[in-house]
Amino acid sequence: MIRSILGFTVSYSQGHWKRVSNVDITKNLSSRCFRGTRLLALVRRSHLQEAPNRRLLCSSLISERENQLPDYIRNIKYCSRCGSKAEWKIPAGDNRVRAVCSCCHTIFYVNPKVVVGAVCLVEDKASVILCKRGIPPSYGKWTIPAGFMEMEESSFQGARRETFEETGLQIQTGQLLGVYNLVSAGQVHLVFRSELSELEEFVPNNETLEVEQFSWEKIPWDNLAFATTKWALMYARDTRFEEIVVPQVITKS
Ligand SMILES: [Zn+2]
Repeated sequence: MIRSILGFTVSYSQGHWKRVSNVDITKNLSSRCFRGTRLLALVRRSHLQEAPNRRLLCSSLISERENQLPDYIRNIKYCSRCGSKAEWKIPAGDNRVRAVCSCCHTIFYVNPKVVVGAVCLVEDKASVILCKRGIPPSYGKWTIPAGFMEMEESSFQGARRETFEETGLQIQTGQLLGVYNLVSAGQVHLVFRSELSELEEFVPNNETLEVEQFSWEKIPWDNLAFATTKWALMYARDTRFEEIVVPQVITKS
């Protein structure tokens, strides 16, 4: 038995429906009328037959495994362009599950965020500037000035902006000191070295409780906000007299 259903041809033999045309079924899967049991079984079988390239995958199949999806995909429930419901599927030509609009088919890619910061050396590299955080996470702990990179700025500009916002200091970003890959957090940190020739007045803002200058011996190592803060400070201390710094690269899963 052969039928044409919603744009592609299927045949029935030996108790099974089987797709026989080469129509890209992923385009049609967003339609709710594909949720019929027999068709769903057909699509599942089709998906399995297409493995291992996994290019064709039914959105219903993904939603059955919804609990296994990471939050950064599961939390996208509606399209930010047209407001329709989002579905989770592997788009044609892709190899990862994405949130895809069921109406306008916009694919919502989620990528790691970039954090930029600076280790500000003062007094002939004998001291460093630290900020006491006034917001969570790690409220009340010490960190280097750093924050998320904004659109329409370079990493250097971002590090300078964050330093100015959190300390009031105008710096020039020097060499790249560290690249820290925080894989599960979905972040990449870029930390630059900066040397201040003249010490200006610190101006903390609402994100920063205090700004202080610490000699290397007096850094509050046990009260630092993040592991990346410690990595950057230790590497900056150990390489402070080197004219050219080889960036430290640390990856944390
Ligand atoms: Zn949409």
